[in-house]
Amino acid sequence: MRLNPAPPAFDLSDDVIRAACELATPAPLLAAVAQITGDATMLRDDLRPDTSNMLDPAGGLTPDQLVAIRAAASDALIAFRESGGTRAPLPAGEALVAMMEYVAGGPIAGDYVPLLTEELALGGDQRAPRWHTSEIAAGNDFTVAIIGSGMSGIAAAHRLAQAGVDFVIFEKNTDAGGTWFENTYPGCRVDIPNHFYSYSFAQTGDWPQFFSSQSVLLEYFGACADRFGLREHTRFGVEVVGADWDESVQRWRVALRDAEGIESEFVANAVVSAVGQLNRPKLPAIDGIDDFAGDWFHSARWDHEIDFTGKRVAVIGTGASAAQFIPHVADAAAHLTVFQRTPPWVLPVEHYQADIPAPLRALLEQVPEYARWDRLWIFWRTHEGLLPMAVVDPEWQPNDRAVSAANDMLRQLFTAFYEMMFTDPELLAKVLPDYPPIAKRIVFDNGIYAQTLQRGDVDLVTDDIAAITPLGIRTDDDLEREFDVIVYGTGFEASKFLTPMRIRGVGGVDLQERWGGDARAYLGITVPDFPNLFLMYGPNTNIVINGSIIYFSECEAHYIVESVRMLLEQRRTSMDCRTAVHDAYGAWIDAGNRQMAWGVSTVNSWYKNDLGRVAQNWPYSLLEYWQQTRVPNPDDYVLA
Ligand code: NAP
Repeated sequence: MRLNPAPPAFDLSDDVIRAACELATPAPLLAAVAQITGDATMLRDDLRPDTSNMLDPAGGLTPDQLVAIRAAASDALIAFRESGGTRAPLPAGEALVAMMEYVAGGPIAGDYVPLLTEELALGGDQRAPRWHTSEIAAGNDFTVAIIGSGMSGIAAAHRLAQAGVDFVIFEKNTDAGGTWFENTYPGCRVDIPNHFYSYSFAQTGDWPQFFSSQSVLLEYFGACADRFGLREHTRFGVEVVGADWDESVQRWRVALRDAEGIESEFVANAVVSAVGQLNRPKLPAIDGIDDFAGDWFHSARWDHEIDFTGKRVAVIGTGASAAQFIPHVADAAAHLTVFQRTPPWVLPVEHYQADIPAPLRALLEQVPEYARWDRLWIFWRTHEGLLPMAVVDPEWQPNDRAVSAANDMLRQLFTAFYEMMFTDPELLAKVLPDYPPIAKRIVFDNGIYAQTLQRGDVDLVTDDIAAITPLGIRTDDDLEREFDVIVYGTGFEASKFLTPMRIRGVGGVDLQERWGGDARAYLGITVPDFPNLFLMYGPNTNIVINGSIIYFSECEAHYIVESVRMLLEQRRTSMDCRTAVHDAYGAWIDAGNRQMAWGVSTVNSWYKNDLGRVAQNWPYSLLEYWQQTRVPNPDDYVLA
């Protein structure tokens, strides 16, 4: 997969140009064409998307406006080719802001401009560290241990490498890719469009689909590890089992175990945990789970040796993973029974599994600027723009099905889709959620999941499971169904952050004991008494409706690298988060989550820990996380 390739000469035929312009998202298309031609007059006021309509994929543009935009873009691209295809200088300053505001459909306030400039990355990587170790601390031996070479670990390692900071990545698996390495279940794919679910510093025109499958994502993250020279810094097949802060030398003693079980130690000035939130499969606490005589496995440890042909298969769970593999299991098995505890809200996305049509792929290859503007479009409209729909309106009359008028509108829209998709009233009653949209993770479906549940050889059981028996599954109504295979799509130990590692900080304090099942961290990154320990995708950094988790990891990587800079510049050995700062931050996070659909709804979800606190989610805007992770405030830390 080619990362950040220089665009080739622009030589698309008229037909391909016109076909591509029919397929492209109109506003970012016009912005990209205006950029490369240098003709900002194309971005006319009467062709602006509608800021009040964030749900419409076309941005609320009328049919006439769409025709005008597509024609203007096609004509301009043909003229661009005819005139030799030389790109105009990159837009900057007010010209750039005007282009952003065209795509946004209205004014863009304050700090969003630098943030969106970074996300757009028109001139290449905008977030590279603007310092180098050799300039501020030549000859130092500061070393960072990074745990995990998944999406977050790669981001942190790349930034540390750019700043000239030594690091070693310890990866328990045999290859990079993290969750995209481990989850190999059939149908596994991302549900954030790839122009956004990709690093701002590693763009590619090689996505074959709008939402890539697991194998393509694995290839992408592998290509990033190669391109940024990270593999030579990675010890594959080595698991970090724990880490102890050694106050006397102001370093972490990182305990390692390799594939042969041989234990060793690595001494590091700082540790970055990039182990993710969704990396420890969770088996349900159901009686008799070990008694089952047939085959069984968890979706994140898919057993590809098991052939479903002719078998009676049970799937437990209907979350984002299960919804993706259920259609594949149904195709292969003789009969499938799906056990659903809580129905997910399912969003129909027609092109969810579709290939990017050839003309559009050709445009993306030759005009990568379109992918950049599309990234901004997705960021602004379908992510940041949807967050208000999850916010609780205190004036809204108490209602367990919606948290505001906007949220209720979403519920009605979804419900109409359900009524179209499920014609059997009995099945409709089973699958239609009775909690507010966005209180749990929304599942994307191009229609195949809904169709699968309506197959004659598929049953949906909504009775509670009482026990797993040697022969199958017994429900609360005492009915025992027999199966040959049980697949657990039951999610992850999301709130047990950093388990099973044993991390001990100042004075030997144990991280899990400190947390007591309620993990918290300042900015999701630092924990008092654990100096120079930095968490990525830590507590309260998961997003529900706005943003891509890659965005958060880039923010965290930036903060971590700036923290190392602070230590080196100030000739300090460690930084330890002040308890008061950490606690005040925690209170602010909790207050935010209490205003969100996932915070007030009583529906169960992996967003809450066993104590009922939302320990996973970030309740504020993407901008606010970016603002908070610009530079560490030395006053927030005790610097040794
Ligand atoms: P999940 O969302 O936690 O879903 C687990 C499912 O198992 C739920 O339906 C849950 O029911 C059910 N379950 C758990 N224990 C049960 C029990 N004892 N009896 C009956 N049912 C039980 O896990 P996941 O589907 O693996 O997804 C986790 C997260 O990974 C997603 O939310 C998403 O963030 C990410 N993911 C993303 C994608 C994507 O991008 N498309 C794909 C897969 C995963 P309840 O709802 O009642 O708890």
